[in-house]
Amino acid sequence: MPRNPTPLKGQTAVITGGARGIGKITALTLAGAGANCALLDVMDEVKATAAEVAALGVRAEGYVADVTNSEQITELMKTINETFGAIDILVNNAGITRDNLLLRMTDEEWDKVIAINLRGAFVCTRAAARYMLKQQRGRMINIASVVGVIGNPGQCNYSASKAGMIGLTKSAARELASRSITVNAIAPGYVKTAMTDKLPEKAKEAIMGMIPLRRLSEPQDIANAVLFLASEESSYITGHVLHVDGGMGM
Ligand code: NAD
Repeated sequence: MPRNPTPLKGQTAVITGGARGIGKITALTLAGAGANCALLDVMDEVKATAAEVAALGVRAEGYVADVTNSEQITELMKTINETFGAIDILVNNAGITRDNLLLRMTDEEWDKVIAINLRGAFVCTRAAARYMLKQQRGRMINIASVVGVIGNPGQCNYSASKAGMIGLTKSAARELASRSITVNAIAPGYVKTAMTDKLPEKAKEAIMGMIPLRRLSEPQDIANAVLFLASEESSYITGHVLHVDGGMGM
């Protein structure tokens, strides 16, 4: 049977951290499959990204918002639900790093990373769940990390936030399953984006040595996994952590 080229037609996806990097490529990929997209990000660039997404022929809006601001996010999800008519897919993608060795890591570096990566995902999950529960369907996809599973020196804050996201994923999956809402996580390895550009060449070479498939990941590798977890084909998968890391974390 020929494949439907726009399996997500008429659905609405909310993508946090959608201005650039993995979030942007994910938005373009879901839009390519027919989904309308609401992008939110702290960067103004989110408006220009939404215009690029809309150029694919779907409805797309960019909202400047901070995932740690629970009042703002609650209000924004309401606006998105009214504007687009539904929230079918949530991609918790917004994230930051503030790397430091354990003994040098400040309370601020710890708190900031946990607040954006973990609390932000919780705030958006809670706000979007309200609408998915009413619809009795929905897809939540949390962008975690391989280091949330295997750890990484210099990233106690980041790996704890990503391990926390995996716990959030599994608990929310159990809680929401009876209403046909699936909640899954993706654990990327090393993806070529602004987040990893700043690493020194030596560190990049060392990482390459840890990847059995011997190539760094493109944002598209992650977006392809998001598309699968948002699609009908994955309807019997929930509470799962999909490793998209070239074998790094096995
Ligand atoms: P990126 O820095 O290019 O994109 C992250 C986006 O999140 C940015 O647009 C940023 O403005 C936004 N953001 C930051 N704080 C925010 C906030 N408080 N509210 C709303 N938006 C906020 O990084 P990326 O590589 O595209 O990372 C996307 C996700 O993938 C992150 O959660 C990251 O931890 C995860 N990840 C990345 C890699 C990698 O190698 N790049 C590996 C594993 C996981």
